[in-house]
Amino acid sequence: MRYLPRVLRYLRPFWASAVTSVATTVLLALFALLGPWPLKILFDSVLADHPIPGPVVPILGPLAGDKVTLMLVVVAGGFGLTLLGNGLKVFNSYVETRLSQGMVLNFRSDLFRHAQRLSLAYHDRRRSGTLIFAINFQANSASGLVMALLPLAQSALTLVGMFWITYTLDPPLAVLSLSVVPFLYLAVGHYVSRIQPRLRQVRDLEGESLSIIHEAVSMIRVILAFCREEHEHSRFRRQGAEAVDARVGVTVRQTAFSLFVNTATAAGTALVLGFGVHAILQGRLTAGELLVVLSYVASIYKPLETISNTIGSLQERFIALEMAFQLLDTEPQIRDAPRAVAVNHVRGEVVYEGVNFTYSGREKTLEGISFSARPGEIIGVVGPTGAGKSTLVSLLPRFYDPSSGTIRLDGQDIRRIRLRSLREQISLVLQEPLLFSGSIAQNIMYGRLNATMDDVMEAARAANAHDFIEALPNGYDTPVGEKGVGLSGGERQRISVARAFLKDAPILVLDEPTSSIDSRTEEVILDALDRLMSGRTTFMIAHRLSTIRRPDRILVLDRGRIVEQGTVTELLALGGLYARLWETQTQVPSASGNGSRDRENATTSPSGHEAEARPKILSPFQEVAK
Ligand code: ATP
Repeated sequence: MRYLPRVLRYLRPFWASAVTSVATTVLLALFALLGPWPLKILFDSVLADHPIPGPVVPILGPLAGDKVTLMLVVVAGGFGLTLLGNGLKVFNSYVETRLSQGMVLNFRSDLFRHAQRLSLAYHDRRRSGTLIFAINFQANSASGLVMALLPLAQSALTLVGMFWITYTLDPPLAVLSLSVVPFLYLAVGHYVSRIQPRLRQVRDLEGESLSIIHEAVSMIRVILAFCREEHEHSRFRRQGAEAVDARVGVTVRQTAFSLFVNTATAAGTALVLGFGVHAILQGRLTAGELLVVLSYVASIYKPLETISNTIGSLQERFIALEMAFQLLDTEPQIRDAPRAVAVNHVRGEVVYEGVNFTYSGREKTLEGISFSARPGEIIGVVGPTGAGKSTLVSLLPRFYDPSSGTIRLDGQDIRRIRLRSLREQISLVLQEPLLFSGSIAQNIMYGRLNATMDDVMEAARAANAHDFIEALPNGYDTPVGEKGVGLSGGERQRISVARAFLKDAPILVLDEPTSSIDSRTEEVILDALDRLMSGRTTFMIAHRLSTIRRPDRILVLDRGRIVEQGTVTELLALGGLYARLWETQTQVPSASGNGSRDRENATTSPSGHEAEARPKILSPFQEVAK
């Protein structure tokens, strides 16, 4: 119940609808009260000779003389009441649907926004399917809770009204009708405490099913390549069957509880019927009055059943809300410091000072990282796989925060800079160019949402993408599938480079942008990247040293530490890890022993510029063979 006040906050924007709905609910309760009276008048005043009940005398008075007219008026009145009641129900359903859907949308969009604000460390630990489940399905419970409260209020109101009228007709019968309440109370308490753990289990299992689907859809290529369709299918079936079993168990318990409630009220009705007939035999009650009392008792039980069942079904909503609020209550680890400042068009001086970082549950990922990059410098980041290169650059846009040490941008600690403005200063081009479903133009525009079509084309030209885009039948309007399906890796990468051009940020992070691209396309992309890097502080991670074409400095990482740094010439002269990597990549296996000659050639290239020192590229197979 502690979630109730927070859920009610979502009701605030819809207060007018809520008030209308409550008013309609009260009216519906009144209609329910009026329902049995036409029957009573027919039985007692048309079929027998009892006087018309006091409150309706002013309405029916002049017609009371003629029984046929009275009968017609009462029957028509009863029909009219039903019609009006149904009209009100339709109106109420419209108001309630608007209200509940509006609430769900607001709650869901809060969850969505919050999930995006959560740090990468959070997402690393969670399965996306569970997150989708929480956002999309569990959000319904907020409005479900509110919408369950209204019938609950209506039932409580009807219960009081019905009890009062029954009490005026026959106090002992009225009191007798409530004899089932203690049993219901105990049953609800017992049920709630038993059902909660089961509901949690069902929720987790159903969330897990969604995770499997999500994972399978995003891994479809791997699944097909390994022919694991059957394997995935049976994994899904097995897990699904477990979820089904758990759901069936819960549903059986929910139904058994409902049946218990119904049985208890049926026992109450039997009691009232027995005592009622006894009262007629004693002359304390007319048959018509017993009919009214019985219909009221049935009507008392209806809200009682509704209340008991609603309290039972509310448990499911509470369990769902628990998941949704847990997500909403997770504080983003990376967020703005209290007095963080916004930066604009930084010069691009980056300094790492004694930076340490560890992923949770891992050994030291980065240790004592210190280096500086002057504005406009190109810094190559190299090292064996798993050395921490990607981690090093992902600290700059604060995807993660260092455990100790400082990173400065233009002299300012990046933790003192507003996150949004910090990230606006950095363009990222990743190994796997991810595109959104939409047109090519929209994907490029992602770099600057208010860009014009001319800007988009200019960026595409700079990224060497314009020609291939124009050659497509729909040009810039060509739709791309999810993650860019429908385009080749090189085409996708050029679009993501165009996106970076459009963003025009002073700092550029290139994380192996050409590693999954053939060497001819690589040249085209490297050419575009050369243009992109110009005038920007650039960090370029590369396995193939040749792809870092004009580095001002190279950081060599090994097991989370910078083991060497300097210019290509300095590093080659050092004869350490970089020189070894260089040698590995420049040697042609069939001509072993040429490494030093290549190195010589490379460092003393005709122009004398070390950036032109291009190692020969081995195929990945040759690299592996070595
Ligand atoms: P590669 O060249 O293969 O891309 P890298 O040098 O970029 O490797 P990182 O991706 O930075 O290396 O990873 C450094 C270490 O941190 C590795 O040991 C890796 O297993 C670990 N690691 C990377 N990402 C995570 C994560 N999200 N959670 C836990 N550990 C991680």
